[in-house]
Amino acid sequence: MKKIITIGEILVEIMATEPGDGFLEPIGLVGPYPSGAPAIFIDQVAKMGQPCGMIACVGADDFGQVNLDRLSRDGVDVSAIVTHPELPTGSAFVRYRPDGSRHFVFNIRHSAAGATGATPEAERLIEGAHHLHVMGSSLSTPAIVALALSAADRIHAKGGTVSFDPNLRPSVLATPGTRETMDEVLARTDLFLPSGPELFLFSSAATEAEAVADLLGRGIGAIVVKDGAEGARYHADGALLSAPAFAVDEIDPTGAGDTFAGTFVALWLRDTPPAQALRIANASGALAVTRRGPMEGTSTMAEIDAFLGAHA
Ligand code: ATP
Ligand code: MG
Repeated sequence: MKKIITIGEILVEIMATEPGDGFLEPIGLVGPYPSGAPAIFIDQVAKMGQPCGMIACVGADDFGQVNLDRLSRDGVDVSAIVTHPELPTGSAFVRYRPDGSRHFVFNIRHSAAGATGATPEAERLIEGAHHLHVMGSSLSTPAIVALALSAADRIHAKGGTVSFDPNLRPSVLATPGTRETMDEVLARTDLFLPSGPELFLFSSAATEAEAVADLLGRGIGAIVVKDGAEGARYHADGALLSAPAFAVDEIDPTGAGDTFAGTFVALWLRDTPPAQALRIANASGALAVTRRGPMEGTSTMAEIDAFLGAHA
């Protein structure tokens, strides 16, 4: 089976127990939960039974340990996750507002996550990889960008593939240099997995069909648009497949997109027919939103099969 790798931040998430506005007074909190978009993605890949590993950096603290324990337990190769002797593990405090939107307090750039870069262990992981998944939101330092682009080129040079989930808000794209970086990643992308409006970050087209035609024309092999409670759509040379989401009670949407992508990419590398891969990935996204905690909603193929059986 093909080995999938990713690069980026590992965090803990600490959640407010009650919805409300921010963290300006003492409130109930629950956590730490393992988190970080690429970490959630790779945990789901591991639960699919796919060989996989992650290049990352955590602190020499409990928050790092929580993540290392979870990822190794689930089958992720953690040999290229460095433990930084001084910097703390990254964190995100999150509180849902009554309207469902999220308020965050982040410690990422100046945490161990910001020190991620090339190491001999990272080199070895790239050497043994067949597929790289790039999370756009993880490309936050020049060292991470350089490592991701060189990993993409090395994996392509030996016949491997690259997937790309921008995971970006348009405001982030306005940061100097970000658009250029994302264009460089897009130019190396075989499978593109934007969420809803992210499709239009890279194309000035007015409709989804036009944006897809534009992007496929630039050499991307396939595009999967994740659309929350609307499900997902698959586009490739002339083909359009649409799969509805499963009806579930949404408890915590954080991480659904990363979980969906982990499932879809693993199936795509196994040449699963796209309609079937979309349905299975939608099921894993639905399972993700029913669990509190960003990585708590990852699931094995057996768990996904049981869900599909109950929702046939
Ligand atoms: P995030 O970046 O927060 O991880 P995202 O915006 O990238 O999420 P979404 O499109 O919200 O990703 O969700 C990914 C997939 O999860 C959807 O395509 C769908 O299959 C599933 N999903 C998300 N929300 C729901 C929901 N409310 N009900 C059922 N399935 C859902
Ligand atoms: Mg996303």
